[in-house]
Amino acid sequence: MLLSVIVPCFNEEGNIDLFYDETVKALGDLMPETELIFVNDGSRDGTVEKLRALCARAQYRVRVVSFSRNFGKEAALLAGLEHATGDFTSIIDADLQQNPSYIVEMMQILKDHPEYDAVAAYQEERRENFLISFIKKAFYKVMDSLTDVKIMQAASDFRLLRRPVVDAILSMPEKCRFSKGIFAWVGFETYYMPYEVEERASGTSKWNFWKLLTYAFDGIVAFSNKPLIMSSVVGFFIFCLSILYLIVIVVKTILWGDPVAGFPTLACLILMLSGIQLLGIGILGQYMAKNYTETKGRPVYIVKEELDSADSAQGPGAAMPGQDK
Ligand code: UDP
Ligand code: MG
Repeated sequence: MLLSVIVPCFNEEGNIDLFYDETVKALGDLMPETELIFVNDGSRDGTVEKLRALCARAQYRVRVVSFSRNFGKEAALLAGLEHATGDFTSIIDADLQQNPSYIVEMMQILKDHPEYDAVAAYQEERRENFLISFIKKAFYKVMDSLTDVKIMQAASDFRLLRRPVVDAILSMPEKCRFSKGIFAWVGFETYYMPYEVEERASGTSKWNFWKLLTYAFDGIVAFSNKPLIMSSVVGFFIFCLSILYLIVIVVKTILWGDPVAGFPTLACLILMLSGIQLLGIGILGQYMAKNYTETKGRPVYIVKEELDSADSAQGPGAAMPGQDK
């Protein structure tokens, strides 16, 4: 198989058919050598029925991996990569915000430039509300200063990867997966291609403020130990300050025989120090929680159903890989 296209889907019933039609149109000559892998991430709408119907009627190779529940986009991406058999693998959203015709451009770039191993699409202009855009910028600043991996801020998960890159990504066994960091961590030469995001064809975005915030924390914990070091440094700094303050109190008492005073000072100090302690414990807790998840070794996703239009039982429209119909 030349090209695998991974499409994570969560409640995308209105987009499946449209996405397939647009992709067939956009990929043109590439389609006979392409497999479309739809990963149904526990959708609660009619997505799975749409996918079953598509699998039965599809003119080109369509594979469906259905999860037993919603495991999140990261899990869907991993499942897609694990199932992909292509020499090239593309990741694209199901909502047509990312036009499939860019995949052809990406293929051309990799064909023309053997020195590049991957193409990542990035938005030159982001059409997002102020708060989300602010959080994203702040996150990438923090991420940049805390980790050794360099994540290009505007780059999306919309990518085309050569086989060695996919294999490198799959060689990372971690359960808590943060793809943006993983793409950067595995290295290889990435070509950044500008693209324009379109409006969602149907349905709504699955991201909200809190999801983005937890995603950001997950990313930092997954790729940096510096918060732990920072909490130790802050602890040490406060310890030094307390020694200085102790000296001040002893000297004051010796010189002026200061009577016991300073309840406000005491209250402030207790509040501040216990706050810092809780923060430190919280940071430690985050790493322990991740460690706990990793050591439990649970699978990242559970597959409930797999379909392949190439299986003979799938009806007259089924095409064998590489077969032009
Ligand atoms: N998605 C998924 N699992 C989830 C959330 C999202 O597979 O838990 C898929 C979704 O169906 C879409 C892609 O990930 O194909 C991007 O999601 P969305 O469009 O909501 O994100 P946005 O474009 O707003 O960043
Ligand atoms: Mg979208």
